[in-house]
Amino acid sequence: MTQDLIDPRALDRLAEVAVSVGLNLQQGQDLILTAPVAALPLVRRIAAAAYRAGAGVVTPIFSDEELTLARYRNAQKESFDKAPTWLLEGMAAGFAGGAARMAIVGDDPMLLAEEDPEKVGRAGKANSIAYRPALDHIANFRINWNIISYPTASWAKRIFPDLPEDEAVRRLADAIFAASRVLGEDPVAEWKAHNAALAERTKWLNAQRFDALHFTGPGTDLRVGLAEDHEWMGGASKAQNGVVCNPNMPTEEVFTTPHAARVEGTVRSTKPLSHQGSLIDGIEVRFEGGRIVEAKASKGEQVLLKLLDTDEGARRLGEVALVPHSSPISQSGLLFYNTLYDENAACHIALGQCYSKCFLDGASLSQDEVKAKGGNASLIHVDWMIGGAETDIDGVKPDGSRVPVFRKGEWAR
Ligand code: ZN
Ligand code: ZN
Repeated sequence: MTQDLIDPRALDRLAEVAVSVGLNLQQGQDLILTAPVAALPLVRRIAAAAYRAGAGVVTPIFSDEELTLARYRNAQKESFDKAPTWLLEGMAAGFAGGAARMAIVGDDPMLLAEEDPEKVGRAGKANSIAYRPALDHIANFRINWNIISYPTASWAKRIFPDLPEDEAVRRLADAIFAASRVLGEDPVAEWKAHNAALAERTKWLNAQRFDALHFTGPGTDLRVGLAEDHEWMGGASKAQNGVVCNPNMPTEEVFTTPHAARVEGTVRSTKPLSHQGSLIDGIEVRFEGGRIVEAKASKGEQVLLKLLDTDEGARRLGEVALVPHSSPISQSGLLFYNTLYDENAACHIALGQCYSKCFLDGASLSQDEVKAKGGNASLIHVDWMIGGAETDIDGVKPDGSRVPVFRKGEWAR
């Protein structure tokens, strides 16, 4: 029913641009995609676009909100320490065999908000462990991958609780299509220009060779040491399989790897973090020697503390990213409860696993070498927003001299 509300031409363009620019799917390449059943209209278009582009076999794996809830409400306790390991290992085998990966997100991000946090935490951990071999291909950027979203009714109602469902879906569809740059006649050209603008930023940052970034703002005085031989990335980039792709759609960020042992000071979140169905807001943490030694939140503190206890790396940073306050997603003023959108509205940091691609010659580094350069390792990678209209950032050079990077939430140059 809701699919009649969504402009079919914009959906066609989203499918087309996700396959050609997002994935840059290669002749003969297989595609494994995950999606909510509610996104079926988009999945069908993706499959058609992928086969037109020469795909080998397109294999969708669906999730469903009712099925997810059926487990939480009916399964015995032991269920929550299990994951479909065989399936996730199969995905890993698919990637190892050269398949590309696409994720369509759209399930209600707060679906599990009312469920037992203990069960949510255990199921999340079991899944993270089982997904690890597949995630390695993504985290190490061995394959071309892409993530996009679909305006489902349940997600739309979460963002616009006061609007009738039809209106909510229309508003979310508009926001997704605008942020994904598919409203114009030539989205491919728009993405090319956007990628070029992001490449300018990364080029400048990479030439600076900063030793650290110093963030200041309300509740924030944080020095983020950068990993040795870190490399800034953003927009289109080349996977280890040689394919240039655009992993995130939308994307507004440029990002790199912090040094896991060189983060000092305090930081306060500027937007709520939606994590596996829970909302964590008003996060305030203090770092010492790269490790979070104090943490609190005005909302969802228990979820945050549980997250930090996932493993040793969960208390350290794996990513730092810059997004100007004037970015289109930030200006929409919406909280999407979805990292793909919310992280592109503000400067952010991520707890946990680093991206090995964010190093000079990252593809050739072993895990030990990444670690030796300061790259963090963890089962989690959770982004949270620390930037806003008041954010100032200085780049600190090895000799201690400073270069303005952001002033009042915007690029200083
Ligand atoms: Zn990011
Ligand atoms: Zn991230």
